[in-house]
Amino acid sequence: ALTISNASSYGLNTKSKHVGEYIAETGFYQSLTLTDEEPILEKRSEFQDIQVMNSVYYGKVLILDGVIQLTEKDADSYNEMMVHPAMMAHPKPKRVLVIGGGDGYVLSEVLKHPEVEHVDHVDLDGEVIQVCRDHFSWGNAWEDPRVKLHIADGAAFIANATDSSYDVIIQDSSDPYTWDDETGEKIDLPSKTLYSDAHFTNISRVLGEKGVFSFQAETFNIESDLEGIVEWRQRALDVGFSDANYGTISISSYPTGQIGFLLCRKNPVSSPSIELVKKRFDQIVKLGKETTYYHPTLQQTAFALPLWVHRRIYKS
Ligand code: SAM
Repeated sequence: ALTISNASSYGLNTKSKHVGEYIAETGFYQSLTLTDEEPILEKRSEFQDIQVMNSVYYGKVLILDGVIQLTEKDADSYNEMMVHPAMMAHPKPKRVLVIGGGDGYVLSEVLKHPEVEHVDHVDLDGEVIQVCRDHFSWGNAWEDPRVKLHIADGAAFIANATDSSYDVIIQDSSDPYTWDDETGEKIDLPSKTLYSDAHFTNISRVLGEKGVFSFQAETFNIESDLEGIVEWRQRALDVGFSDANYGTISISSYPTGQIGFLLCRKNPVSSPSIELVKKRFDQIVKLGKETTYYHPTLQQTAFALPLWVHRRIYKS
């Protein structure tokens, strides 16, 4: 039987012989057993291994290259927080780009906002999308007439996009690297292109002057990830964002039970007041599209960090 542990969210397939090398490199290992049943779906696409598993507590689990992407039980926290703080930080998010997020959950949250007129969704792997259409309740998001799906590399897509053509960009990518099962060497994965200087420069270029960019920014509880947060934040500031703030999310199926996003704004002054955010949120609720984790208070409090984390990220 195959046991999926949350160490796998760090590019560590639990079948790997190189657990020791991972621990040696990161000094980190925690394990949470989700299931010992065989996958209900297992296939290899052009880009990655795709699995869907059933688990008693977490419901269905999507795994790519041995790495947990989401579980039915707690996908709401991560996906709602990747989307709503960013959408609410823009005064009128009409045109949105979603990069990655082949499971469709981020897309379904974006579509809850009535201001949205058009969403380009670009993911590398059409087979992930098909699997998620078939297996998850939010898998009908692509049927919305406002959505145009593009199967392509996100970095290549954005390199060809027109200047100032989006209000909000949400990047929900998988991990940029993994470890080779045989040699233990670090291997780059397709999402590596989504963290380069060139890609961040293009993101800033294709956003309008009030543009907002939100991307997955790992946990602060692991030293190497905390260094990554500081590096990615600086990269966002270097390419022209006026601020880049780390928001925290509680999610029990991810390593350390905590993950975060970096919310980067080109012009913080244009963000709506909290009163306006509450009004917009009420409108979403009235439309019957309520959330389960996000609420307007988190628009501010998600960015309040433990003192030692605040000092490390903001150097103050
Ligand atoms: N929330 C998840 C996490 O952090 O574990 C990520 C979810 S989502 C399934 C990740 C998606 O990124 C996958 O659908 C994958 O196909 C896509 N992806 C990876 N590299 C990409 C690239 N270069 N361009 C566009 N999409 C990419």
